[in-house]
Amino acid sequence: MKKKVHVNMLMANPDGTIFDHPERRLLCRRGDGFAEPKPEELIPLPPESELFLLPGRRAVGLNPEDGSVEAYDELAVAAFLAPAHTISAHPAYLQDPDAPLLPLFAYGAVGVYHDEFYVCAHKVDNDPRQQFAHISRLSIEKNARRLRREYPKNRLVNHILNNCVARYDCPAARNFALGRFEAPLPSSQSCNARCVGCISEQEKTSPLHVTPQCRLSFTPTPEELAEVMWIHAKREVTSPIYSFGQGCEGDPLQNAELLAESIRLFRKAKGPGTINCNTNGSRPSVIPMLADAGLTSMRVSLSSARPLLYNAYYRPKNYSLEDVSLTIREARSLGLFVSLNLLFFPGITDSEEELEALTKLISQNGVSMIQWRNLNIDPEWYLKTLYPDEHSVTPPAMGLLPFMKRLKENCPWLRYGYFNPWLGEKATLSAPMPA
Ligand code: SF4
Repeated sequence: MKKKVHVNMLMANPDGTIFDHPERRLLCRRGDGFAEPKPEELIPLPPESELFLLPGRRAVGLNPEDGSVEAYDELAVAAFLAPAHTISAHPAYLQDPDAPLLPLFAYGAVGVYHDEFYVCAHKVDNDPRQQFAHISRLSIEKNARRLRREYPKNRLVNHILNNCVARYDCPAARNFALGRFEAPLPSSQSCNARCVGCISEQEKTSPLHVTPQCRLSFTPTPEELAEVMWIHAKREVTSPIYSFGQGCEGDPLQNAELLAESIRLFRKAKGPGTINCNTNGSRPSVIPMLADAGLTSMRVSLSSARPLLYNAYYRPKNYSLEDVSLTIREARSLGLFVSLNLLFFPGITDSEEELEALTKLISQNGVSMIQWRNLNIDPEWYLKTLYPDEHSVTPPAMGLLPFMKRLKENCPWLRYGYFNPWLGEKATLSAPMPA
């Protein structure tokens, strides 16, 4: 929206009835601060998004008469947005002491304007890669059955179709079944990080009892991985992408030799397209081997470019943020296109401190793109993870859009988006070569 409008706050009864309050305005939250949304950060709720009730959290709105903040007995409501959108604020609410932990989703502030839902968010990619509204479930299942029949011996094909499509409804796996865009290549059972919000494995002591996905229970062979690439290459003939590093696995660089061998097999037989690796970027020493085998791009995930905050969330076992920078540097120097999978959290990422640290990491190491992803986590849990001893300490937030604008001013070569781009077999790089 361009001009200032008054968006009504939303609330819900425990039975799931959602309604707006016509005389109270939407308040949103960045870190510890509550504020009215800025007009430019309000967009209509994108198709394929969902609304959530927030248990144990009471709705909070603004009384425009006297400027007071009012809490209600009704539940707060949040929006989980369709892919390609990044939230710029969380909903404002008052949390009860016994409120349950929220599952691993990103919770966006949502209100009502002229009978339409509006959210605090920005569309960061126009790629329709993860839009499925026009595709029937039947057609996905029909394609999956055909692939299972044709490749009964490939355990990875069966894992992607039986687990990722049938159980988790994973968008990358559905695209593999349909033979379009980007194919997933899960390969690793282990990880050298212990991310607080890991979606495939949590420690016994974690307050999270379930994860959205389960870790891969076998290690595929190079032949199985290369066969998945070929299946995809023959069906997505225009711009195929194959990506190691998926939600159902650990970190793919743990098995770097396996990755390199499968890439070699595929490239030796003139396998076309972009081979990408989504990773925590913790092993700089294996990058030359992967680049030599024919890897095209790498997406390194990052919650913060500040070591204290990075360590608090990733809890790395045997590496540091410095190793992540070295991995990026090595990859750029060897001609790989490097994206950051930036896990945006309103009120923490969009601060002056993060802008400074991120600018340094990007420009010193040769990052080509930012993929603006949401950090999927209960907001209170994340804040307590970062600041266990204090509260109300989050720095002033500038907002997602000003943050994006200023980062681009600092690093004008940066490409912005949400998905791994198709780059052919070898990318053209605009990111400056590290000194
Ligand atoms: S790097 Fe990925 S797989 Fe490893 S703990 Fe973090 S989220 Fe989980």
